Amino acid sequence: MRLRLTLCYALLFVAVALVLLYTETVTLRRHFAEAQDDALLADVRQFSALYHEFGLQALAGDLRRAAEARGTENAVMVFRRSNLAVAASSPLEPWQDVSLDTPGLAELQPGDVRFRTLPVPDLHLSLRLAEACLDDGNYLQVGQVETAAPAVHHYQRLFFWVLGGTLVLGVGLGWLLIGRAMAGVERVTQTAAGIGLGDLTSRVPRLGRGREIDTLVDAFNAMLDRIGTLVRELREVTDNIAHDLRSPLTRIRGLMETVTLSGESLESYREARGQVIEECDRLVVLINTMLDIAEANAGLKKPQREAVDLRSVLAEAHELFEPVAEERGICFQLELPETLPAVAGDRRHVQRMVANLLDNAFKFTAAGGQVSIAANPVAASVEIAVADTGCGIPVANLPQVFDRFFRGEASRTTPGNGLGLALVQALAHACGGEVSVESEVGKGSCFSVRLPLAVTMQQEK
Ligand code: ADP
Repeated sequence: MRLRLTLCYALLFVAVALVLLYTETVTLRRHFAEAQDDALLADVRQFSALYHEFGLQALAGDLRRAAEARGTENAVMVFRRSNLAVAASSPLEPWQDVSLDTPGLAELQPGDVRFRTLPVPDLHLSLRLAEACLDDGNYLQVGQVETAAPAVHHYQRLFFWVLGGTLVLGVGLGWLLIGRAMAGVERVTQTAAGIGLGDLTSRVPRLGRGREIDTLVDAFNAMLDRIGTLVRELREVTDNIAHDLRSPLTRIRGLMETVTLSGESLESYREARGQVIEECDRLVVLINTMLDIAEANAGLKKPQREAVDLRSVLAEAHELFEPVAEERGICFQLELPETLPAVAGDRRHVQRMVANLLDNAFKFTAAGGQVSIAANPVAASVEIAVADTGCGIPVANLPQVFDRFFRGEASRTTPGNGLGLALVQALAHACGGEVSVESEVGKGSCFSVRLPLAVTMQQEK
């Protein structure tokens, strides 16, 4: 890959350079040729003016001087009579191999000027020749070795040196840069290969080798985090199913076995049937709660982030639990400030959290006790506090109360499955909130859920 990329760029570079060289050469040649023709034409005009004014003798001297000044092997000037015989010229020795009596010269009309290019055999040069028919029918030839070719050759040589140098430097630099970039991709590939073998803990280190590679590394690591969370959740759910569904199923089986073994009265069947239905219901609730927790923890389904009016949610909850409080002889209070900002979250999730906390508060508080529910703004959030004067939780158990299937000593005789607080925590986290507990044995407990303000949600958008 590295070699292929480097070669591709090198080839592209050479192709572009050659196209550039070709167009430059053509332009240079044309430029030099036009400039030389202009200079020859100027010579023709100057010499013909001299001839007309001062005659042939003056012209002959001038032709020789001009050729010597330019170098007799570089320039040639010939004055011919109308019968094409040479009447005056610059030294012609260097031009013996060049046929200066060019065909068709006699066909030129007075005032005509034409240009020709003649090869100079031994020197591998060309002679550019301007031929003019003067007003009196005589001819003037002014020639100069072509200047374009050597200049263009010089330019081409220079170009190839620069091209060669740039190519070596470019290929070397490209090799290094592509190597650096590929190193990042290779690391990601190696880690991906490791994960293929089951190692979900490795992460690709950020090497700081270019923004694109770092973005790829970040995206890859984020994906790994997400996969890790999903796999963990999946493992926990399967563990839970393996351990915790066993007991209700065993209970159901035991019930049916007892009924089958002991008498076969219709009454005992009816009773067993009722108990099995109850166990099944509990089992369904257990499985659903387990799935809800897993779903919230894994972030599979994004909870709705709406502005939730806590005053109405808490008032509804108060109304719902009022009969329970009355029945149990517990004083139940709702303490709300005049105004309460809306929180960001899913209304159904907030309702479930409050209901679970109240359910526990009533479960673990004896008659004559108190349960209260309050809400107050704290920093950029609102804190919902569900407090009771119940049995409280031993300090040693406090870190475990939010674990799945944890049930304290006090709850041995109360109904429940140990998933209520785990669900509260999972839902709070899914809403971007937090849950905490303060408790003292014999005095009571206070569970607090902090939820972010809906204003923060708008800022996030
Ligand atoms: P469950 O109530 O079904 O047992 P939870 O997850 O709701 O499960 O609670 C876990 C444990 O935390 C309970 O078994 C209990 O020991 C303790 N707990 C929860 N809430 C309270 C409370 N308000 N007062 C005392 N103990 C509590």
